Amino acid sequence: MSSTRFTSDRAHAVDASGIRRVFDLAAKMKDPINLSIGLPDFDVPDLAKHAAIDAIRAGENRYTQTQGTAALRERLRADLSKEFATDVGDVLITSGVSGALLLAMLACVNPGDEVIFLDPYFVMYRHLLTMVGGVSVVVDSHPDFRFPAQKVADAITPRTKMLILNSPSNPTGIVMSEQEIRDAVEVARKHDILILSDEIYEPFLYERSAGVYSPLSLYENTLVVRGFSKSHAMTGWRVGYAFGHPEVVAQMTKLQQYTFVCAPAPFQRAAIAALDVDMRPHVDDYRKKRDIVYSMLSQKFETEKPGGAFYIYPKAPPGATASAFVERAIASNVLIIPGNVFSTHDTHFRISYATTNDKLVKGCEILLALVDDNR
Ligand code: PMP
Repeated sequence: MSSTRFTSDRAHAVDASGIRRVFDLAAKMKDPINLSIGLPDFDVPDLAKHAAIDAIRAGENRYTQTQGTAALRERLRADLSKEFATDVGDVLITSGVSGALLLAMLACVNPGDEVIFLDPYFVMYRHLLTMVGGVSVVVDSHPDFRFPAQKVADAITPRTKMLILNSPSNPTGIVMSEQEIRDAVEVARKHDILILSDEIYEPFLYERSAGVYSPLSLYENTLVVRGFSKSHAMTGWRVGYAFGHPEVVAQMTKLQQYTFVCAPAPFQRAAIAALDVDMRPHVDDYRKKRDIVYSMLSQKFETEKPGGAFYIYPKAPPGATASAFVERAIASNVLIIPGNVFSTHDTHFRISYATTNDKLVKGCEILLALVDDNR
């Protein structure tokens, strides 16, 4: 698609047709069992709500420093330095993880630079790269969605600038093992490539072991992005953060000054309060939901067991494409997302289990019945 008189090639190059088709179908549904939503079904903790309201009343409604308030930055730096057992350096507060991702691309990717990430992928990576003139190099991780170290190594060229990792993953819920992270780091180190580690789902790790779950623990040329959208259900408050490679963080900070300016002031205060809330009961609930959805769907669907986030990514039954299966599910009032939104394959579909257990069980029952109908 090319530009019109008033709009750019860049804008037209972003193809959002896949997800739009799903929204169009969803718009026709009445009270669907919605297993498509990428955000938690619990609300922002009260402590954080009160902190936001107090901040607004106290007049914290102005710009903050571009890099974020000192209070939030220092708190995160202290917490993260404890987690990583080393000083993580400056933390940049961003307008959600989406803001951090855009700044990271702007700060790191020259036009024509290649960026590797796995298929299936979080769709924003591809679109952001299109916007900055980067080249998406997509490495297939079907059928088990494990990190294909050799394929990634084979995809590297002199133009490769960055490797994006997303563990736990959207859309698969797969968590990289320590060995896989070591493999990714080895490839990146060998070719002097930056790792961008999107860890927005890190709080939803269901089998957290003592081992390594972030490449930053092993490799200094890593930028980590995390945020409050998923962990504290603050998707509308737009608070995320980035830390790691100091030069990248510094360049992102400069660019934030001329784009987002700062993350919303009252919600930065609320984020500090949120850090004092114990979210483990919610994570325990979500682990149970993961167990429900996996134990039900694995009866009839080929599916990997997710280790984190709140997604599962089963294979559609044989004989039809995943998008055809999703249309049947939608006709039966269950809203799920076809894998071809996240992938070049039309074989799988994404379920978000961030809903009530009742709806989840009902939705799974309907999907299981559709498999039987298929025979
Ligand atoms: N990364 C991943 C993998 C996500 O799933 C999302 C949200 N769907 C984001 C980043 C962006 O999150 P936010 O901008 O709300 O912080």
